[in-house]
Amino acid sequence: MVARAWHPGSWRDMPIRQVPEYPDAAKLAEAEARISRWPPLVFAGEARRLQAALAKAGDGQGFVLQGGDCAESFSDFTANVIRDTFRVLLQMAVVLTFGGGTPVVKLGRMAGQFAKPRSSDTETKDGITLPSYRGDIINGPDFTPEARIPDPSRMEFAYMQSAGTLNLLRAFATGGYADLHQVHRWNLGFVERSPLADRYQDLAHRIDETLGFMQACGMSDLPQVRETDFYTSHESLLLPYEQALTRVDSTTGDSYACSAHFLWIGDRTRQPDGAHVEFLRGVKNPIGMKVGPSMAPDELVRLTEILNPANAKGRLTLISRMGADKVEAKLPPLLRAVKRAGRNVVWLSDPMHGNTTTVGSYKTRPFDAVLTEVRRFFDCHAAEGTQPGGVHVEMTGQEVTECLGGAHRLSEADLALRYQTFCDPRLNAEQSLELAFLIAAELKA
Ligand code: PEP
Ligand code: MN
Repeated sequence: MVARAWHPGSWRDMPIRQVPEYPDAAKLAEAEARISRWPPLVFAGEARRLQAALAKAGDGQGFVLQGGDCAESFSDFTANVIRDTFRVLLQMAVVLTFGGGTPVVKLGRMAGQFAKPRSSDTETKDGITLPSYRGDIINGPDFTPEARIPDPSRMEFAYMQSAGTLNLLRAFATGGYADLHQVHRWNLGFVERSPLADRYQDLAHRIDETLGFMQACGMSDLPQVRETDFYTSHESLLLPYEQALTRVDSTTGDSYACSAHFLWIGDRTRQPDGAHVEFLRGVKNPIGMKVGPSMAPDELVRLTEILNPANAKGRLTLISRMGADKVEAKLPPLLRAVKRAGRNVVWLSDPMHGNTTTVGSYKTRPFDAVLTEVRRFFDCHAAEGTQPGGVHVEMTGQEVTECLGGAHRLSEADLALRYQTFCDPRLNAEQSLELAFLIAAELKA
């Protein structure tokens, strides 16, 4: 057990991976100092409410839907992009709530998902080698030496973009857009032309009927129908930024990371004695950790003890990202070890990151493998007597062609049509809805 004292900067004494070398230390310190004076983006009370909702999902009384871009970008910062992602998440949540009969905890990979871990420090194109792109909060995606220099002023723009995104999300969630009476209108144009449209419209009709019945009974103005809870999350990778946004909650005296409600540790930065684990162990937000195929059962139990010493429910979410071909071998020993140790966790399936392949110059993911991993995740839990708590997906409301397959059977030749991601391939709206219908069926089974 870690006995060291934690403070928001204690990570600086630990070995760190995946964080850039800024060429100008003074400029970095100035940016951190400015951000540390700016208002928090979220409140501690909201993070506590999310933790309570996650605790329920861990006990089988709810399902977590976490989704959004692999990487948000400065150039895609528009109301339509935010609205379309929010809308697909709402549609998926409705399918899961009504079709699967369970409350859904909605958690966007939005309003702060900017920093990316990379497998390689450099990238080579046409014989030229440059530092890798690490997300818009760190450097630029253009393939030029200038764009790839880490620039601390990008943290300040990321803060502003996160504030603008969060403002719109809060307006959508509580200002009428998410009202269940609008369920028909959430449909996106291209999904209306899809084989899934009828299934969705059928569900929307049944919701309308239910709402009509509730109105007839005098229950028409319930806030649960008019508004929704929507939370934000991102990978806690760029620790200078996260530390600058850490605040002490005046009601409890606890430190909260106020860049988002929920932060997670990536699969590449989860070393028990590393800087990223050190930072997140001390903030009181609900947190997550990716769990890939190289995780050993005893190491996982040790990490749950470091990250959640009080064993509080809803505090720690483990996000399994094994790959469809590995999940049946790798996940059950981990489920067993965590259960045997009596550790409270919420288990999510990330069916994206273990199923990435390359076709020509495109990174892609076969939709069938995504579905298979989710199905096997449910099967593993059923066999072990543990609780499948939710899913974590990379998706967008845009009509992109980044993942193969789905109702429109996107082929390898189709990838070039609208391949728009700044990092990993995302499910488009139609593929996301199809996934939601499959999960709803699993939840009902
Ligand atoms: C991600 O979620 O975009 C990511 C980098 O995942 P992982 O840490 O699981 O590789
Ligand atoms: Mn990704």
